[in-house]
Amino acid sequence: MKKNALLIKNARIIDPANDIDMIGSILIKDGIIQQTGGSITDSAPQIIDATGLVACPGFIDLHCHLREPGFEEKETVASGAAAASRGGFTTICCMPNTNPPLDNAATIDYVNTLAARESGRVTILTVGCITKNREGREITDMSELAGAGCVGFSDDGSPVSSSRIMVLAMLKAASLGLPIIDHCEDLELSHGGQMNDGWVAARLGLKGIPAAAEESIIARDIVLAEMTGAGLHITHVSTGGAVKLIREAKSKGLKITADVTPHHLTLTDERIASNPVKPEESPAFDTLAKVNPPLRSAADVEALIQGINDGTINAIATDHAPHTDEEKLCEFELAASGISGFETAFGVLMTLVHAGKINLNTLIARMTIGPSRVLINRFGRTGTLAAASPADIALLDVNRQWIVDKNNLLSKGKNTPFDGYTLKGTVVATIHRGEIVYRNSSPGIAQ
Ligand SMILES: [Zn+2]
Repeated sequence: MKKNALLIKNARIIDPANDIDMIGSILIKDGIIQQTGGSITDSAPQIIDATGLVACPGFIDLHCHLREPGFEEKETVASGAAAASRGGFTTICCMPNTNPPLDNAATIDYVNTLAARESGRVTILTVGCITKNREGREITDMSELAGAGCVGFSDDGSPVSSSRIMVLAMLKAASLGLPIIDHCEDLELSHGGQMNDGWVAARLGLKGIPAAAEESIIARDIVLAEMTGAGLHITHVSTGGAVKLIREAKSKGLKITADVTPHHLTLTDERIASNPVKPEESPAFDTLAKVNPPLRSAADVEALIQGINDGTINAIATDHAPHTDEEKLCEFELAASGISGFETAFGVLMTLVHAGKINLNTLIARMTIGPSRVLINRFGRTGTLAAASPADIALLDVNRQWIVDKNNLLSKGKNTPFDGYTLKGTVVATIHRGEIVYRNSSPGIAQ
């Protein structure tokens, strides 16, 4: 093998999959972890002294948008891969709402070819469409998509409104051993809505999207998953009621998993009305905080955090959704929904750790072994630092402060509501298959 051996030493090793939190070393050879522990005596030609840093499995993102093919002005597979690497991600799953959408093997092959070019720095997996052209009318040839290597099925950006079509899709997905990744939205209830339905929407005079628009479809799909035996992964959960439904379903032993985004865990609908960092520059309605599902209330945020802490929510997924400036610098009603999230995810989530709301080990679990297990049928060996696993590792400085500058993002999408925020916690280096693929060279802010 061309790859050299690498030794990371003096790190605080956090590997939730193996219940490890200790000071020690990780020995890597040929892209594979040889040994993780406190007493490694072997050396290596390349040594990283990680004193003061956390070493954990590379982050795994179940939900992102790389926009290629069709929307290369927003992002490309290459620019998205660079942004993911900087965010500490070593495996990412891209959603199929491209143009053309990933509803056939040829398009998935195309994205896989682009992904292969980036395979030196991040593993990119594809999600295939549930229905042809994401129209909700006819299911795709899911066997063919699975054959092309997709890791799950989703019409993300759109729900599958027909229960009958969803049943057909679930039966097929179950037979293939792959999950349905569910964007839950009742389009009749959300129709015309711009933000969370509640006091802030009323104050701003914007039409609201009720929690029920999400929860009614989650409830339906839990019932359908029970009927079909399908694995159901509910993505970007945003309401307290949704957490409750998922908790109840899991307690019945159903194969339900769920993820939540960094922004739904840290921002409320108030962020649309005011920007705490730049209050004077803040527009009346900040389109940078427009996202689907919408930012919810403080009570919802607390419920999501509780879901993370008690394991109801398996994973944190970025829903990285890059857009051009033109799509955000416009009237609120016309603005695109979404946040460019790879590069701020860890720093944003660390605000919850520093506030004492989530334990660091829990946070890392939800970004590593949690999402890995959602895809366990095919990708069970990621998300761990156990010997013989791929050497996918993030090195983190949990106390280093930095200021988000949207103009410095590697993503083409500069659409972040966190621009100007001071965050405490950063990715210092990302190692993918034993190679250092990202190193943070910018200085932190003295504390
Ligand atoms: Zn979605």
